[in-house]
Amino acid sequence: MGERIGIFGGTFDPVHVGHLVAAVNARHDARLDRVLVVVANQPWQKADRPVTSAEDRFAMVEAAVEDVEGIEASRLEIDRGGESMTADTLAVLADGQPGADLFLVVGNDVAAQLATWRRADEVKALASLVVVSRAGSKKPVVDDSWRPTWVAIPRLEISSTDLRERAADGRPLDYLVPPKAVHVIRERGLYAGGQMRRQADQSPRA
Ligand code: ATP
Ligand code: MG
Repeated sequence: MGERIGIFGGTFDPVHVGHLVAAVNARHDARLDRVLVVVANQPWQKADRPVTSAEDRFAMVEAAVEDVEGIEASRLEIDRGGESMTADTLAVLADGQPGADLFLVVGNDVAAQLATWRRADEVKALASLVVVSRAGSKKPVVDDSWRPTWVAIPRLEISSTDLRERAADGRPLDYLVPPKAVHVIRERGLYAGGQMRRQADQSPRA
C-alpha cells in the first residue's frame, strides 16, 4: 500500500494552535502517514492585503511543527515561486511520490468555498478531501465527488486575522501560537506588536 500523505495548505500569517489541532487530528483520524503543512508563496485568495514574507511565514511554521510527530513544514510552493495553486502542488507531489495516496486537508470554511476554487477538477482528480470540521460550526456542503472524510475537532475560535490585530496592539500571542513560533515572531520582530515589545524588552529598566 502506498504512503498516505496529507497536504494542509494555507497562508499561516501567523500559524496558530487551530492549525496544529487540525493537522494532528487529520493525520490521526484519516490514518495519514504524514501531513505536509504547505506554506503558500503568494496566496491568490489574499491579494487584497499585504502578507508577511513567505520566508518569515515558513520559519514560523517550521518552528511550530519541529517537535510534532508526522507533521512537516513544506517549502514546495515557496520554492516554485509565483502564485500558489493547489492543483500545481498536488501535481508535483504526485510526480515525486508515485504510488502515494494524496489527501487535501481543509478546514470547514475552506471546504465551503470549494466550488470557487481554480482548477477544482484537477485537484479532485489528484487527491481525496479531508474536512476538519469544528464542533458547533455550520457543516459545509461538500459534493461526494470530492470523496470527503470528516474529522471532528473542538471549535477553536482562533484566526490569523485576529492574531495580527492582537500583535499590532501589543497583546500577547502566547498559548494561541505555538511557543517556538512566538519565539520566531519576537526574534524577527514580525507584526508591529512583536517589534514594539522587543524594543521595550531591550530598553533599560527604570
Ligand atoms: P486568516 O485569518 O488570515 O484567513 P486563518 O487563521 O484562517 O488565517 P489560513 O492560513 O487562512 O488561516 O488557513 C489555513 C487552513 O487552516 C484552512 O484550511 C483553514 O480552514 C484552517 N483553519 C484556520 N483556522 C482554524 C481553526 N481555528 N481551527 C481549525 N482549522 C483552522
Ligand atoms: Mg482563513
